[in-house]
Amino acid sequence: MNISFLDDRGSLINFYEVLNIPLTAEKASIRSSFCALIKLFHPDAAGIDSEEQRRRAHLIIRAYKVLSDIALRAEYDRLLSASRNQDRPTFSVIPRRRVKYSVSLEGLLRTRMLNKRIRRAERVRNFGQDVEVFITPGESESGIVVRIDLPSRMTCPLCYGKDPDCHVCRGMGRIGGSSAVELTIPPPIAHDALYEFDLIKARPDRFTSFTMKSLKARISVIGKRNAAAATQQ
Ligand SMILES: [Zn+2]
Repeated sequence: MNISFLDDRGSLINFYEVLNIPLTAEKASIRSSFCALIKLFHPDAAGIDSEEQRRRAHLIIRAYKVLSDIALRAEYDRLLSASRNQDRPTFSVIPRRRVKYSVSLEGLLRTRMLNKRIRRAERVRNFGQDVEVFITPGESESGIVVRIDLPSRMTCPLCYGKDPDCHVCRGMGRIGGSSAVELTIPPPIAHDALYEFDLIKARPDRFTSFTMKSLKARISVIGKRNAAAATQQ
């Protein structure tokens, strides 16, 4: 059997999307989805004969032929997962201990994070940045995801800011706390690069906002050994 997995432009077709089924679909559900769809698009059954409809019916038949054949499906699945890994790079997740906070930000956070105080070693004194993130050369090439704790303000969950005598917010309407922002930085990441993130739109949820308008993060690319040492100071 010689069935092409590619469309006219040479791109891999997603046959699972064509049949509207998950990647894990079993034979019975592949078949029932095919039967339902072909009724809708088959030119004979529908009574309306159009080029687009014929093309659609052929695609549905092709998807069914591939996914209902064990050997063909295995071959196709290999190509599909390879193509997915190509266009979706895998970012490295940076451990919390490799984020160091500026003295001023640390002071703000310390009053808000009762259980997770930031250790002295995790502060940086460099001015001009709020946090410094230490990454390895490998991580600079893969891109990174890093979570950073920041001071935040939450609308009072008891009175929603409407009760001047509220005992939870003491009539302030809002409560100070801390929330994490997740930053994604695509590769390549240069050593000593300074990134600035807008925090106004990066709200943790409807009721919470960060108190800072933006966050400046400096990225230091260091060797693996230095990365370990930086966390042990
Ligand atoms: Zn309140």
